[in-house]
Amino acid sequence: VVAVRTGAANVSGLLSSVNQLFEEALYVGDLQTLAIEAEALAIPAGGTDLPERPDAIHVEDVSFTYAGRTTPSLDKVSLVVPTGKIVALVGDNGAGKSTLARLLCGLYRPDSGTIRWDGVDTATADRAQQFASTVLLPQDFFRWPLTLRAIVTTGRPGHHDDARALTEAAEFAGMEALLQKQDRGWDTLAAKGFEGGVDFSGGQWQRIGTARTYLRTTTAGTDGRRPFLVVADEPTSALDPAAEVRAFDNLRRLAGQGATVLLITHRLAASASADLIYVLKDGRLVAQGTHEELMAAADDEQPAAGSYRAAYLLQAQQYATRLPD
Ligand code: ATP
Repeated sequence: VVAVRTGAANVSGLLSSVNQLFEEALYVGDLQTLAIEAEALAIPAGGTDLPERPDAIHVEDVSFTYAGRTTPSLDKVSLVVPTGKIVALVGDNGAGKSTLARLLCGLYRPDSGTIRWDGVDTATADRAQQFASTVLLPQDFFRWPLTLRAIVTTGRPGHHDDARALTEAAEFAGMEALLQKQDRGWDTLAAKGFEGGVDFSGGQWQRIGTARTYLRTTTAGTDGRRPFLVVADEPTSALDPAAEVRAFDNLRRLAGQGATVLLITHRLAASASADLIYVLKDGRLVAQGTHEELMAAADDEQPAAGSYRAAYLLQAQQYATRLPD
């Protein structure tokens, strides 16, 4: 079923699709909508209560190695994510950014070290609460063969027919034009290869994922919790330039409403306006500060700030050399 749904062409593609399917199904916590056996994905019940809105998430000395791998994807990482701020995670491919995001959302637990929400260690906390308090907009949004309405309200069945919440989410995500083009609007089946199904482009899927993230962030779940942490993993990689500018403005808007936005991005022009930037390399935290601090850091203070500067200047130069006189 997974292979058919995702078009996985080989075993490794299939395995990665299964992994992603399980991650997301576990995460969204709406197992009935997704028609997946709840037992197979049981979220352990109980544990310490987590604060609904901690002042900060404290990552202390966290290391993590994926099963079957020998090199750690995170190696003794310590950092603080203050609530209500935009925090950018940058670094080369494979640096560990998405891995840290998954740990922050509770999809994986650290092998060593702790992740605390204020004083509460998430290792012994109620995992369902952790899922309910975080939203992950993954890099490759999973394309469930469902109606747009069901996808955007996943995990929020009470808002299935909430026209106002749906319209707001569509407006936030720039989905209006996409909806207008569909005869069935929100009831369009988003699934290539299914009778009556419609496929969308990468950028359109990214907008659909953003609408779901917005609805999830601005409404409470069945347990009354509203997420305070929004992890946006390359949220604009497939967007056109105008949509990208709008998306970053919107993330700022979400932070303005009190959410923490953890922005994972290779677009350093976007991370430059974050309140705080963490630079990862090979699973380690190698530099931190605001954009201005990283740009001005002396080499003996933060040697790795140099690689941030170099990457930023390279991107800036790419645009500058093509600007009209
Ligand atoms: P990118 O910028 O390319 O998205 P990233 O900084 O987000 O990279 P991660 O995806 O966190 O990096 O990967 C960190 C390391 O962990 C890489 O070496 C990667 O191969 C490995 N890794 C990531 N996901 C898995 C997984 N599910 N199973 C095994 N190894 C993984």
